[in-house]
Amino acid sequence: MECFFAFIFGLVVGSFLNVCIYRIPKGKSVVSPPSSCPNCGSTIAWYDNIPIISYLILRGKCRHCREKISIRYPLVEILTALMTLAVTCKFGVSFDLFYYLILVYYLIVISFIDIDTMEIPVKLSYFALILGIILSPLSRNVGLIDSVLGASFGAGIILFIIETYYILTGKEGMGYGDANIMAVIGAFLGWKLVPVALFFASLIGTAVGITLMVLKKKDRKLALPFGPFLAAGALTALFYGREILNWYLEGIGTC
Ligand SMILES: [Zn+2]
Repeated sequence: MECFFAFIFGLVVGSFLNVCIYRIPKGKSVVSPPSSCPNCGSTIAWYDNIPIISYLILRGKCRHCREKISIRYPLVEILTALMTLAVTCKFGVSFDLFYYLILVYYLIVISFIDIDTMEIPVKLSYFALILGIILSPLSRNVGLIDSVLGASFGAGIILFIIETYYILTGKEGMGYGDANIMAVIGAFLGWKLVPVALFFASLIGTAVGITLMVLKKKDRKLALPFGPFLAAGALTALFYGREILNWYLEGIGTC
């Protein structure tokens, strides 16, 4: 029953996250006006705005102008629903469920905005960062000090990478937006999981980068948004980080 509600709740939130992904980079309000078709501008009625179901009934087309609706809308809804379900299974109905859902929803929004625009909205990151720090004393997993250390450590590592890369190559590799994302991740996960998140972000990023280069035969200058990989690394750390860290530290201990 919990799982069912988590999934439905996730679908509804996913629908809202679509609005955020679309409007935040344009500097528009995410609350008003109501959603409208990007092609013909007609307002979308509530019965045409039901997650997944409306998309299927309308066969992926606007009711008024028949313009195709991007498959990404239902995909973001399903992704959000599945992530909500996973966090619910991991933490149960608790404060940590609420706490980590904030992080997960933030990560979904910035990942898609980064893919679309190659930029990370600064205000959104600061908002998430503040929430992560001020709510951390209520979490069973991170405390206030751990959260502040995590945010500083996360941002610090990325800034260090940016500066080093610039000194060595004279070019900008990662952006300051990535440092902001890593600060948010550190604030929610605590400083110990920062290296775990970064390790998996690099691993997944490298794997995807190489695959794309082979498939599309693109040159090495291929610029990939790093936000989605940081998000994937953070999710790995959220779900398996403590186990991975224990396993790793035990391994060192037995050496
Ligand atoms: Zn339309």
